[in-house]
Amino acid sequence: MLKRLNQTLSKLIDHELRTAQLLFLFLAVGFTAFTFFGDNLPVKGPLKHEWLNGIDALTAFVIFVGLLFYKPLQKRYQQCAYVFMYTMNVVNIFLLYGTSFNIQYAYQFIVAYTISGWFFRDKKNWLIHMVVMNVLLIIVTLVSEKSTATTFDFYATYIVASFAQAVLIHFRFSIEEKLTVSEKMYRLLAENSFDLICIHNADGSLEFISPSIKRLLGYDPAELVGRKPYEIIHTDDREIVRALNLSVPNHPSIQHPSQYRLQHKNGTYVWVETIFIALEGSDGIKNTVLSQSRDIRRSKGIQLQLEERTKELERSNADLETFAFVSSHDMQEPLRMISNYMQLLKKRYGGKLDKDADEYIEFANKGAIHLQQLIRDLLSYSRITRTELKRVSVNMNEAIDEVLRNIQVEIREKNAKVNREQLCAVEVDRNLLMLVIQNLILNGIKYNHSANPEIKISCAKHDRETIFCFADNGIGIKPEYQQRIFEPFHRLHTKAEIGGTGLGLSISKKIIERLGGRIWLESEFEKGSKFFFSLPNS
Ligand code: ADP
Repeated sequence: MLKRLNQTLSKLIDHELRTAQLLFLFLAVGFTAFTFFGDNLPVKGPLKHEWLNGIDALTAFVIFVGLLFYKPLQKRYQQCAYVFMYTMNVVNIFLLYGTSFNIQYAYQFIVAYTISGWFFRDKKNWLIHMVVMNVLLIIVTLVSEKSTATTFDFYATYIVASFAQAVLIHFRFSIEEKLTVSEKMYRLLAENSFDLICIHNADGSLEFISPSIKRLLGYDPAELVGRKPYEIIHTDDREIVRALNLSVPNHPSIQHPSQYRLQHKNGTYVWVETIFIALEGSDGIKNTVLSQSRDIRRSKGIQLQLEERTKELERSNADLETFAFVSSHDMQEPLRMISNYMQLLKKRYGGKLDKDADEYIEFANKGAIHLQQLIRDLLSYSRITRTELKRVSVNMNEAIDEVLRNIQVEIREKNAKVNREQLCAVEVDRNLLMLVIQNLILNGIKYNHSANPEIKISCAKHDRETIFCFADNGIGIKPEYQQRIFEPFHRLHTKAEIGGTGLGLSISKKIIERLGGRIWLESEFEKGSKFFFSLPNS
């Protein structure tokens, strides 16, 4: 109830013209009452007491009517107040003279004079008023006959009141001055900002729009003041702004930046990014919203282009993978047949034809085996993104034991040793992880000239990820090749030197990235390599 009364009063007082009109009506009625019903003390000179109050009543009434119906005067209500203050104070001084400083008029003058100071809006006008009234007062004091006691009483009160008025007015002007300076600064900021700054009413309509709107959207601020911003938001984006729930007071003070399109006056659309901030009124209630919008056409254009290209790349990548998958899958069968017949040829005719024929059969056989391996790798490579991930808790120790069982022939052949410490468990796709482990162990053995190849597997658990390390005492890799070996078909040796398809590490990289981790290596040429991969902790 009190809050509502306060709000109504603030609204009324904030509307200065309406307040001025009410004030003059009140004064007109008040002085008319004094004219007809006031004390009729004798006054020196031709003008009677009621006439003098009548002058005040008439002045207030004329100004009230003027302010009500005459538009040019409405803009000058401040000057009207000055006219009334002068009239009232001059009449009061005349009453002082006319009643020889009668106590009733003395206090009437002091009260009216003190209050009237508040109606002056600048120091200059206030000073002029003060000088005029004091000169009149001195003249009146000099020409009227009165007792010393009365004069002393009057001047004592008058000096105190004048001093109080001067102090209060000084404070008021200095506060107003500071306010004007800071208001000017903020206005300059808002008006010259490159961004579009708006203030929205509680109902969402625009109350203030910075002039930068002209540059951004081609409108003059006046064209949009009072309108709702929805009118110029792209229909597809209206929901984004509605979802912000700008209807105060419930929404949070600062909203995350939202991106949407605003319609330019010429009909085109402009991408902007806006931050909305709820502002509290002096009563602590959020009743306005400040929005700051930035033109993001350039970055949005680049972002859209990038998204389009990414989509295109993803599409062509998927096509390529499908192609690799289908072709390698379909090639498997005829290749198996070739390989089988080559074996048969070797078995049946090996040593029965001439030496060249034996050599040719051997080459064809090796080629068929290599091609089979290549197709198997290609299939695994293209399957990585096609298969659905089955995340399970994987005991790394058990997974490594299983891999070691699968490759025991290779381990025995090279007299290799695989050492591992107690390893941490992870939650990933077990089959894919086993493929990585197998590739890394086999490489550690294959690219190793030591009589006793050795691979050490360790792990380190961090806050967000677990890192595994596969360290070997192999041939190592020169720094300039360390990144390239993760690319498909990138090999550092010929097939004759060390066999392989050049896909093992790229398969491993693709798997680890699909599982949400990274893979990298540290290596010293001819001393050994350490392959690391990380997996996110669940
Ligand atoms: P492949 O072994 O089939 O050739 P990879 O992708 O597994 O294919 O390896 C790519 C290349 O990286 C290999 O040709 C080899 O030169 C090098 N490489 C891989 N692992 C090691 C290792 N542990 N030590 C030294 N070189 C290695």
